[in-house]
Order: sequence, then C-alpha cells, then structure tokens
Amino acid sequence: MTFNDLGLSAELLRAVSEQGYSEPTPIQAQAIPLVLSGRDLLAGAQTGTGKTAGFTLPMLQKLSQKSVAGKRTPRALVLTPTRELAAQVAESVRRYGKYLPLKSVVIFGGVKPGPQIRQLHNGVDIVIATPGRLLDHVQQGNVDLSRVEIFVLDEADRMLDMGFIHDIKKIQQQLPKQRQNLMFSATYSRDIRRLASGLLHDPATVEVARENTAAETVSQRIMPVDKKRKSELLSHLIGANNWQQVLVFTRTKHGANRLAEYLEKSGLSADAIHGNKSQAARTRALRQFKAGKTRVLVATDIAARGLDIDQLPHVVNFELPQVAEDYVHRIGRTGRAGHEGEAISLVCVDERKLLRDIERLLQRDLPREVMPGYEVDPCIKAEPITKGKGHRAPRRHSAGGRAGAKKSSARTARSGHGQRKKNSQRPGRYRSQAAA
Ligand code: AMP
Repeated sequence: MTFNDLGLSAELLRAVSEQGYSEPTPIQAQAIPLVLSGRDLLAGAQTGTGKTAGFTLPMLQKLSQKSVAGKRTPRALVLTPTRELAAQVAESVRRYGKYLPLKSVVIFGGVKPGPQIRQLHNGVDIVIATPGRLLDHVQQGNVDLSRVEIFVLDEADRMLDMGFIHDIKKIQQQLPKQRQNLMFSATYSRDIRRLASGLLHDPATVEVARENTAAETVSQRIMPVDKKRKSELLSHLIGANNWQQVLVFTRTKHGANRLAEYLEKSGLSADAIHGNKSQAARTRALRQFKAGKTRVLVATDIAARGLDIDQLPHVVNFELPQVAEDYVHRIGRTGRAGHEGEAISLVCVDERKLLRDIERLLQRDLPREVMPGYEVDPCIKAEPITKGKGHRAPRRHSAGGRAGAKKSSARTARSGHGQRKKNSQRPGRYRSQAAA
C-alpha cells in the first residue's frame, strides 16, 4: 500500500513525500479512506502510530475540495488535551497543508490571547485548540463554531482524565448537528464508550496497536539504586555512555527543576519542562532539546504527554509513575517509527510496589541490572506507605471535571494540568524523594 492508493490529492501527496514517508502506517491506511468517505470514526490509536496524519490528511483534502465565499469561519475543529499536542497537530496541519490555500490557527492557554483573536477575526478554516482557551474565545464572541464540518477529538481518554468532559460538552453545543466526528483514544474505558456513543453517528472503528510496541523496539531495564544516589547515577549513565539526547521523567515539578539544576552543575546541559513553566519557556525547552542543543530534558508526565520527538534514543524514569499505564506512555517516547530505543528506570526500595504494578500491566518481569558502585544499601528499608501521603488513588476517568471544581482548580484544569497538578503538589514521600 502506498499513499497514492489512498485517494489523496496531488498537493497532499507532494507534502507527504517531502516528509520522507514511503508508505502509510496502519492507522493511516485504514482511517484515511474512511474519513474521505465522510464517515464518523472511532479510532483506538495512541501517539506514535501516525494518527495525526491519519486525520489531518483527509481533513485537509475534504476542506480544500469545497471553496467558500466570503469571510472564512472554522470548518474543522481539532481538540487536544495539552498545549504541546495542540502545537504538534498544528505543525502537522501546516506541513501537510503547505500546498493548499487553507488557514489554520492554534489556540491554547498560557499565552496572550491577542494574536489568537487577531487570527480568528481575520478568518481561519481550521482551529486546533485545547478546550479551556477555546471556550474563552467562544464566550467572548471571537469565534463562531456553527459552521464546523469536521470535529476531531484527539486523545479523548486524556481529555477525560484531565477533567475536560464538561468543556467538551459545552463546545459540542456550539457545533452544528450535521458534521463529521472523529475520535481518537488510546484506551476504551466505559466513559470513553459513553462519550463516543453521544458524539459519533454510526462510526467506523479502527484499532491499531502501536506500530513499534514497547516490547519490540524498546529495550527496558530496571536499575535498582538508593534514592539518594539517583541523581549521581543518572549523570554517570549519561556521561559514561555519552548519551546525547535523553528524556528524563520525574514525578513532581519541583523534582524536575532540582534534577535539571543538578545535571547542569554536573556539566550536562539540561532543562525542565512542566506545568509551572510558561508556555514560551516550555516551547523553547522543547525546541532546544529537539535541535540537540540541550542534552537532557527533564519532564513531568503531563508536560511530556504526546510529545513527538523523532527517534528519541533514551528515556529514563528517574522515578516510577504512580499509575502503571503512564510507564507505557513514558517509554513510548523512545523507539519510535521503527528505531531502537532504550528505557531505564531507576528504582529505589520505596518504589517496589509501583514496579510490581507495572510488571503486572506488562505481564512480564523487566530485567534488573545493578550498576557497579551503585549497589543498594540493604539497611535502607522502604518507607511505610500511609494513606493520603504521596500515593494517589488510581485515575478515575469520570473525574468530576471542572464543573464540580472550585474556580481556582477549574483554571488549573483549563491549563491542561487539572488533577495531576493538585496531586503533584500534595506533600508526601514522593516530594522528599524527588528532592533526593
Ligand atoms: P503521531 O502518532 O501522529 O504522533 O506520529 C508519530 C510520528 O510518526 C511522527 O513523527 C510522524 O512524523 C511520523 N509519521 C507519521 N506518518 C508516517 C509515515 N507514514 N511514515 C513514517 N513516519 C510517519
């Protein structure tokens, strides 16, 4: 199967071939003809499968086939859970649509609304947005969504996790009844199925596993180490192996900052990316990292969600995530598009239970490797896990959302860091661990 077989226009094929893609990924091969045919779509696919082009290419084609007279109003709306993902989708729209006369705008919070308002007033065909800021624009009359023909909900499961369900519903009310709906989700919880049944009309379903599932192209290792020596071991690993591009996950924003500072002091260029950083700082950190100017990017889960960094060779879990599924998301940042990747988790005695949860989810044990000189001190015992201290309850998909939240936390959810933000600010043992 080639892109030529999918019924795409010459302009799109040209843009795709400039990207160097030789053949469509499975999600693209399945989704593109379905979307072109006008059907609603429920797609089980996560980042890394090529899903963005799977909806962007046919969306661009459909929009470009119809010429509209007068001022442009949005005809396609893509909602994403995070600013980073919105920016990445917008970049894909620009790249694939470079030979088409369509205008797009990306809308998210954390930046001044002025330029967004100007772009909206000048007229756009495609809006890529996170829910909170889009609703602000709707309420202020800056955007009219009543002529949207294609509505895409990207990473719908993340949207629910982050409490965006009410925002989605409010946005849905702004859309015309007659439209095409595409929904992407990596998981199918009951809430996702409920959302899908309210949104989609007789949808075609497409499901693909990650093209490069962790098991195939990511080598995973556990390095037992005392928590006080994690920073030291990390800088040793990076230096001794001469790693040039490493994404490191910490559990807290505070921990991410501390670790980035430590690595800088050790002579390794490092930056942190998390929800407390301004959008400009996050974008800059990501750009420098992608360009190879920063060697280590330390990130919290939310900030890293959906990050698309080509061929990332190394991911390190400085701390294990509290939710086992996040481990899979984290290591999904490496070994992409068929390239080999390596994921190393630095695990201290306190994290044994988290490791067990992950291994249960993966249905296999991960290999252990002790770094000589960093052997675990057997005298150090795990800190007792007390309720309400550090251990967060497993994520609930129905997440009460913003409606039930107080105003301040509603704002937080808007910025794309809803529940997590609250949790990561909780005092508890993970805090002190991150500071180790
Ligand atoms: P996504 O799942 O949309 O985030 O895409 C994951 C990565 O795969 C991105 O870096 C894309 O640029 C890349 N990609 C998308 N489609 C293809 C393709 N057909 N062949 C090779 N790489 C692709």
